Amino acid sequence: MTMEKYNRVVLKLSGEALAGQQGYGIDPEVIQSIASQIREIVELGTEVVIVVGGGNIWRGMAGSSKGMDRATADYMGMLATVMNSLALQDSLEDIEIPTRVQTSIEMRQVAEPYIRRKAIRHLEKKRVVIFAAGTGNPYFSTDTTAALRAAEVEADIILMAKNKVDGVYDSDPSANADAKKYQSLTYLDILNHDLKVMDSTASTLCMDNNIPLLVFSIMEEGNIKKAVMGEDIGTIIRRNNDGS
Ligand code: UDP
Repeated sequence: MTMEKYNRVVLKLSGEALAGQQGYGIDPEVIQSIASQIREIVELGTEVVIVVGGGNIWRGMAGSSKGMDRATADYMGMLATVMNSLALQDSLEDIEIPTRVQTSIEMRQVAEPYIRRKAIRHLEKKRVVIFAAGTGNPYFSTDTTAALRAAEVEADIILMAKNKVDGVYDSDPSANADAKKYQSLTYLDILNHDLKVMDSTASTLCMDNNIPLLVFSIMEEGNIKKAVMGEDIGTIIRRNNDGS
């Protein structure tokens, strides 16, 4: 019997987390360190879904602000998440962790298409499932993808791994030395105070479906395991203040 608090988790990695110090593209050393942290929770018996962003390569909003058609720019962003997903799959399989990538936009030569029941079967067989290409729709984010897929596979929690902060603060901790870190929040707090945790579409989806979210730092080795064990790290966000 394992001691982990959460049996099935969605780990949301931003594209930036894969870029390391260079701030762009994929840093092989960083991705290997993330893969070995993921191995720790797979070894606990945790069923792991990964949703990875694409901001290290392309963000739809950046393209559309420079005059590009928004939907086209967003499709490019979704393709960026496929590159990150394949890189992550490669690093995980390098350390003998079985994985499957499923894409929301079909590209059968590259990965399986997203099929919910098949994804659940992979999880039951303890394969790490990486969901690529976001929701498959422009105007959405990979945070929303994490919320949607967490609801679909009935995950216990979304673990939002950050590479710059170790939780949610009342102001930017890199600009304000007095910034205060929250222990816990509700989704309504996030929405009412416009806290930059996830976009409002993702927040409402989590709130309506009662999916908790833990925001924590991935820069400290072993933190993903601590998160899965329910240790007191980062900031937890729930639907209600009483923890329900
Ligand atoms: N994207 C999209 N639909 C989705 C998910 C992502 O159009 O369902 C696009 C969008 O352009 C976004 C980009 O993919 O900017 C990369 O995802 P995101 O910005 O969420 O990545 P992150 O900030 O986590 O690196």
